[in-house]
Amino acid sequence: MEREVRVRFAPSPTGPLHIGGVRTALYNYLFARKMGGKMLLRIEDTDQNRFVPGAEQYIAESLKWCGIELDESPWSETPGPHAPYRQSERKPMYMEYAMQLINSGHAYYAFDTPEELDAMRARLTAAKVPNPQYNSITRTQMRNSLTLPEDEVKQLLDSGSPYVIRLKVPRKEEVRFNDMIRGWVVVHSSSIDDKVLMKSDGMPTYHLANIVDDHLMEITHVIRGEEWLPSAPLHVLLYRYFGWEDTMPQFAHLPLLLKPDGTGKLSKRDGDRLGFPVFPLEWHGTDVETGQPTVSSGYRESGYLPDAFINFLAFLGWNPGSQQEIFSMPELIEAFSIERVSKSPARFDQNKVRWYNEHYLRAKPDTELAQFLLAALQEHNIACSAEKAVQIVGAMKERVTFPQDFWREAQYFFIAPESYDEQVISKKWNAATASALLEFAQELPAHSDTTPEGIKTLLTMVLERQGVKIGQVLQALRVVVTGVAAGPDLMAIMSILGAQETAQRITTAVERLASKISA
Ligand code: GLU
Repeated sequence: MEREVRVRFAPSPTGPLHIGGVRTALYNYLFARKMGGKMLLRIEDTDQNRFVPGAEQYIAESLKWCGIELDESPWSETPGPHAPYRQSERKPMYMEYAMQLINSGHAYYAFDTPEELDAMRARLTAAKVPNPQYNSITRTQMRNSLTLPEDEVKQLLDSGSPYVIRLKVPRKEEVRFNDMIRGWVVVHSSSIDDKVLMKSDGMPTYHLANIVDDHLMEITHVIRGEEWLPSAPLHVLLYRYFGWEDTMPQFAHLPLLLKPDGTGKLSKRDGDRLGFPVFPLEWHGTDVETGQPTVSSGYRESGYLPDAFINFLAFLGWNPGSQQEIFSMPELIEAFSIERVSKSPARFDQNKVRWYNEHYLRAKPDTELAQFLLAALQEHNIACSAEKAVQIVGAMKERVTFPQDFWREAQYFFIAPESYDEQVISKKWNAATASALLEFAQELPAHSDTTPEGIKTLLTMVLERQGVKIGQVLQALRVVVTGVAAGPDLMAIMSILGAQETAQRITTAVERLASKISA
């Protein structure tokens, strides 16, 4: 019988979600929706030492912002069929599974103290063993239930001596599995160590908890980052020893995310250095060295739109096999397939994510964009009609990357310039320009047509009369009206400002700049 597709995103709440983690969540989500299956989230918090307060909340908020919906999670209003979805709350059940492996001879108790483990490693290092491990060879010389007499083991357990439970990895066996992205992966068991399954604090390790939960939660596909590929053979062994091979999930290990220059794994430091966020939302943390509070920027706060971020992220390691680059979430779901996920690492491109943001911003109706500007104006206590805001964003939208750019770039619509771009003035300001513009300013308020076209007609007429070419004055006119050398269509700016205000600004500038005209 075909099983229902069930995938999971299984973050550990050890800090903010890295962009790579969000990509893992996204691919799981796209796959689940595409296959008509379920997407669940499980919090893997068995390592209490690495627990960071606020991280779980952060993960929840991030996924929500991205539009990644969960069918089952610790935050669902109705508990899912496999609740609880936080491993710390599932703690009592893991021991039972570890015992199952002990009883079938696939796991054993190990009583070695930290000092004994250190001594073993030192001995092996001295003997020039390249990678000292607790494994099928070394375990024969350690204090565990394989080497100690049965009654001593019993006595140690009864007396409450600290112990861990380790997996008994066979010495010579081939472990193989077919990764959906990488094809057959074959590993020799001699390269796998006897991993701890239960820690001395009674908590399972990631490996045990992850496999038990994936099995109990009926996971059919494990889609996760490449950094987990080395753990997969161990996981395959666990499925085998539990007798769960028939329902073992299919693995898909996603490609690495590289720095923009392709020289290594993308890190938060690269983001800080090159000025782009690596986290979906702003993260308030603590500097490990100084203990001081730190803030790391997030895509949301930097002004990225979730649609743009998701579209960009989908392409980091996947492509639709066509030229199409713009995909809404439903379109991504429709187009997504694991077969088209690449094996080779994906390089992060900060220009591309900006490009996507510009695209999605421009695609929004002006009335919606106007809200960004109106909100900023309100913060600055500047009154503006909705109609005027719509006109301004309409004129500006081809020039902005982020919503906050509307206010930053459009301030001159509300505040007359105090100073003028020096370079343009020193090159373009002269007696002929000043006189032509002054005449234009004098005639403008009485001019009936103040549409951009109407203003242009008047300007052309005045300039013709004065014998000045439009190309000679246009830049100077822009600078005296706005203060700056670049911006959207100047006729549109003057039309939005209105005849009075435009004329006023020109007259003021002509007075202020009188001294700049060389004799
Ligand atoms: N808890 C692991 C993590 O933090 C999950 C790895 C997996 O998906 O198996 O990424």
